[in-house]
Amino acid sequence: MTRIGFIGLGNMGGPMAANLAKAGHTVQVFDLVAENIDRAIAAGCIAAGDAREAVTGCEVVISMLPAGEHVRSLWLGESAGQDLLAALPVGALVIDCSTIDVDSARQVGEAARVRGLRFIDAPVSGGVAGAAAGTLTFIVGGDAADFEAAKPLLACMGQNLFHAGALGAGQIAKMCNNMLLAIHMAGTAEALALGVKEGLDPAVLSTIMGKSSGNNWSLERYNPWPGVMENVPAARNYQGGFMTRLMVKDLGLAMALAEHGHSAVPMGALARNLFNLHAAQGQGSRDFSSIVELYLDKQDPA
Ligand code: NAD
Repeated sequence: MTRIGFIGLGNMGGPMAANLAKAGHTVQVFDLVAENIDRAIAAGCIAAGDAREAVTGCEVVISMLPAGEHVRSLWLGESAGQDLLAALPVGALVIDCSTIDVDSARQVGEAARVRGLRFIDAPVSGGVAGAAAGTLTFIVGGDAADFEAAKPLLACMGQNLFHAGALGAGQIAKMCNNMLLAIHMAGTAEALALGVKEGLDPAVLSTIMGKSSGNNWSLERYNPWPGVMENVPAARNYQGGFMTRLMVKDLGLAMALAEHGHSAVPMGALARNLFNLHAAQGQGSRDFSSIVELYLDKQDPA
């Protein structure tokens, strides 16, 4: 069994750490939010007073944080002036599961290498339900040997484990995926709103499209229309899940990637504008499938 330091116990990190503990590993956890730590303790993890304590004595450390600045700040100590990587034993494996910009992933990976540590970028797909069920997809960048070393632990949290290529490749593949996710979520919301406006039942329409050529993950597994599906954010007023502001972040990362390679991404750019508009209307903390509300008629206040 492995001693693991786990930092970041939010919507995703919480259930991921719980699955590692369930598999019998010793999981030392830290988050800035006390109630997230309490939940992890209830799931069998061990609380640490700060990030340094959480990673002390660990052969493997995992971070699951919102964005690149949090990951750089944690591991490189850009804000706290603490070099957490320096606290790890030589040879320790650092697994960052956050979705972040490629440059930050490469920067932290290189800093780890210089200190004699191993690092993989390992963003995930599958949502909060996948994190809870231990069925996530891991998309890994880094050395093949480090990917192999991480596999038994990743398998406690996920079902599909992919090596996308060298350091940073996991993030690139994840950005491509999330740009596509944003496009089909917005498209699914649009198609459902069109049908409902013309008198169709959203559940019936979802079943029809789900068995037709319009089927996709947003429709079939994460339906944005309230009342169509249980156990999705739409069934709980879009609380929990994948916050709109995180999707906005990912679309920004995809646009930066497109800029870098001079790639044309017209659909991704449109999706980014839609989710930006939605976030600007005060929806940043709600699940991204609440984008469906952009398509609903509002009452004329006059
Ligand atoms: P979240 O905001 O729910 O969780 C992030 C956690 O990190 C919070 O609990 C926060 O308190 C903690 N944190 C931030 N800075 C910290 C620090 N310095 N030390 C300790 N804890 C710190 O976000 P989430 O939904 O769990 O997403 C995490 C990452 O996973 C993001 O990069 C996101 O894009 C990605 N992701 C999310 C989903 C999803 O469905 N929610 C799916 C796939 C990938």
